[in-house]
Amino acid sequence: MAEGKFDYQSFSQEQEGLDFGKMKKCPYCSKPIPEDAISCYYCGKLIDDNDSARPAWFVWTAIILVVSFFLFFLLFL
Ligand SMILES: [Zn+2]
Repeated sequence: MAEGKFDYQSFSQEQEGLDFGKMKKCPYCSKPIPEDAISCYYCGKLIDDNDSARPAWFVWTAIILVVSFFLFFLLFL
């Protein structure tokens, strides 16, 4: 194996073997895939659980900031 070249195929296969203990179900094909997999090995679809959770708290933080800003003006003007 050439060390200078990054072989993604063997890297992902190694990861699959290492993370076999903690598995989750693919939301698209219901096959078992590693917990930290970014795409399904079976159907090839992207699994972005973390990306869908991130905008939720960002939106709530924005709402809370805007509401507190309005409350501040209502109370002091
Ligand atoms: Zn799948």
